[in-house]
Amino acid sequence: MGEEKPMSIATNRYSEIWGKVNAKIKEKITDPVLYDSMFCELKLHSIEKDEVTLIANSEVSKIVLAGDYSNLLKESFFEVCETDYKIKICTEKELKARIDDSSIGDKKHDSKKFFAYSSLQPKYTFENFVRGTSNLQAYQASVHVANNMGSINPLFIYSKSGLGKTHLLNAIGNSVKDKYPRKNILFITADDFVAEYVNYVKGDQDGENLKDFFRTVDYLLIDDIQFMANKPQTCTMFFHIFNLMYSSGKQIVLTSDRQPDELEGLEDRLVSRFSSGLSISIDPPDNNTLIEILKFKIKANGANIDMFDEDALAYIASKNSKNIRELEGGLNRILFFNVTMKNLDHISLDIAIKAFEGETKKQKNKGVVTLDKIINTVANYYNLPPKEITSKVRTGQISLARHIAMYLCRSLLDLPFTQISIAFQKKDHTTVMSGCQKVEKLLKTDDKVKKAITELKSLLKTA
Ligand code: ADP
Ligand code: MG
Repeated sequence: MGEEKPMSIATNRYSEIWGKVNAKIKEKITDPVLYDSMFCELKLHSIEKDEVTLIANSEVSKIVLAGDYSNLLKESFFEVCETDYKIKICTEKELKARIDDSSIGDKKHDSKKFFAYSSLQPKYTFENFVRGTSNLQAYQASVHVANNMGSINPLFIYSKSGLGKTHLLNAIGNSVKDKYPRKNILFITADDFVAEYVNYVKGDQDGENLKDFFRTVDYLLIDDIQFMANKPQTCTMFFHIFNLMYSSGKQIVLTSDRQPDELEGLEDRLVSRFSSGLSISIDPPDNNTLIEILKFKIKANGANIDMFDEDALAYIASKNSKNIRELEGGLNRILFFNVTMKNLDHISLDIAIKAFEGETKKQKNKGVVTLDKIINTVANYYNLPPKEITSKVRTGQISLARHIAMYLCRSLLDLPFTQISIAFQKKDHTTVMSGCQKVEKLLKTDDKVKKAITELKSLLKTA
């Protein structure tokens, strides 16, 4: 052997080396019984870099060899290889466990360990997003990133509530899914991210598994990033994930209720990352866009657009001009009114005014309980963002708050289960029924729930 000492040794030389080392050991161990019981069955597993791994035939021999004889083993290897190897001794069992572990690690990403519940909403597409001056740029940028991963990074879309952020974010995901099925898309809300971080990173201080998971994601779509505020540990983790994805050209799209530099409770370095791509706002729609959207939604509802007078449409739009979610609510109101009026053949301005009469009176009435008010009050009570109440997140506290909100809608508003299920984004009414039943049971057994319901009822009446 020369001056340069080999660190790793080719496996085809193992038996030759082990034969020589073994002979050296035999020379040193003069007691044949000791040799037979401890060394005879010792095997060489690997010589990698500066470490030799040996396999002992039992837990006891492992302890004895590693304790009393590790120097002897070290010397014997030195004499044969002229290398000062570290000696590691393990049992067959340990080795097998190590191999199993590493294969689990490889599969981990395929099995979608993280964010298993996240999914895109197929109903939100580019095709059913109506463009107008207020949202054109956000729409164009979204289409662009859906076709060119990492081209605008991050894309940051912000607006007040109900103006189409979640719709566009899903549309990006759905479009990528259609055109590039091999790309991995992750659509989550910032709340989901926080919940996942809290649930899974416990005990995995570096969050290595979570980071590994994000290495497999091509499109990271995070809705309502403002909810990550004031969660410093989650933000730090997200900062690393952001950088990791950014530097490997993966696409990040974020939405928020405000522009990056108005986000409070987030580290500056994160805010500056958010601003480093393109930030685009969606403004409240102008009248024309509102009417275009309304017409589009009427058709999508299977109703006949010709039955609406233009001034009726303008009236509906003007009554619900703040956001599109409200506009959809207004349209539902009209369509529902039409059903109760035994399907009129056309909807004039007068009818539209009548349909909204009740609503106008109600709005004026302070203290009147509405579905939105229930959701907001329950969310406030449990210190959750209102969106959590109608989301799919199923962590304990959120589920309970959601069931309580459903129960209150049912008991205070006497709403049909199906209507509640729409408000809570449930596929059918059975989930709402079972949620209400759970609360009814808890009311009999759980004092905390009982107290919460009493307090919530009084809050709702005075609000
Ligand atoms: P945000 O996330 O900004 O609060 P959403 O994306 O949830 O708003 O939109 C609220 C509702 O309005 C959704 O049902 C969405 O489909 C609809 N909507 C918003 N903008 C448009 C648009 N330009 N065209 C069609 N529907 C829209
Ligand atoms: Mg949204």
